[in-house]
Amino acid sequence: RPRVLSGAQPTADSYHLGNYFGAFKQWVALQDDFEAFYFIPDLHAITIEYDPAALRERTYIAAAQLLAAGVDPQRSALFAQSHVPEHAQLAWVLSGITGFGEASRMTQFKDKTVKGGSESASVGLFTYPILMAADILIYQADSVPVGEDQRQHVELTRDLAQRFNHRFGETFTVPKPHIVKGVSKIYDLQEPTNKMSKSQSSPNGVIDLLDDPKKAAKKIRSAMTDSGSDIRYDVAEKPGISNLLTIYSALTGQSIDEIVTQYEGQQYGAFKVALSQIVADFVEPFGARTRELLSDRGELDRILAKGAERAREVASVTLDLVYDRSGFVRPV
Ligand code: ATP
Ligand code: MG
Repeated sequence: RPRVLSGAQPTADSYHLGNYFGAFKQWVALQDDFEAFYFIPDLHAITIEYDPAALRERTYIAAAQLLAAGVDPQRSALFAQSHVPEHAQLAWVLSGITGFGEASRMTQFKDKTVKGGSESASVGLFTYPILMAADILIYQADSVPVGEDQRQHVELTRDLAQRFNHRFGETFTVPKPHIVKGVSKIYDLQEPTNKMSKSQSSPNGVIDLLDDPKKAAKKIRSAMTDSGSDIRYDVAEKPGISNLLTIYSALTGQSIDEIVTQYEGQQYGAFKVALSQIVADFVEPFGARTRELLSDRGELDRILAKGAERAREVASVTLDLVYDRSGFVRPV
């Protein structure tokens, strides 16, 4: 089976609806056709200011939420990045063939440093795309499901794989970005022209998968809507109601057209009340399942250990080959 690799940073106390519909739902579906490696990028999470105790807790929450979403540890490797040292080891090798100018062109670094300026950003945030390339190449992944925001990093990964192969001999599979068409991009409820984001959105702009159902419902009811009152899908003119239609469609499986027809002639208010109930009905069991999984840390530890063991079986073979090709004397 071809291999697929993806991760979602443990940089908040919960993942959100955007992560679920933009990523996890596809991850779960891909398990049928791919050998999947899904990881919690704790090494990436330390490239911005953070609290160690929070990172530890968030890593468990991340694992529990991925399991609640349907990642199946019997079929897929679910693990913490720091449990597989080969990621960091390969990143160092790749940093030797990455141009400084090439790394400087990565737009995520620019985006994430606009506020503080690059002077205060960490070197780790700058080299982040190199570690991400290592995450992918160490598994010889054929495909990487990512949002549009990560396309440039996958391009860099492909360049580095080809460069290494060219200089040192065929070593890496050159991965394809798997940008799933028709995947919902969810926007901030209060600023519907920005994407819903763990680190950038205000609390009322995000539906966390661990939100209390009543609170989640309230956030939908108080979501920013546009002027006018007709319910139709028009991202340019009506980003607020369009985002709510996307969420409605993602949660019910109904097409946007169907929903628009169903609510024809009704006010925003009635539509929001209906959607708030649908959202509450989604987060309620999801939260309950996550909390149940979180109550058994020993079991989570075992699942992560098993995932890391499987991951290392693959990662160690790649690293060995890379070290050999690089000219390092191998220990006997
Ligand atoms: P951060 O603000 O820390 O970057 P994030 O909310 O962007 O957090 P990530 O951990 O960067 O989340 O992304 C995890 C996965 O979720 C990625 O595949 C990303 O493309 C997807 N994703 C993130 N936000 C959204 C969104 N609003 N809609 C759809 N997909 C999303
Ligand atoms: Mg992001």
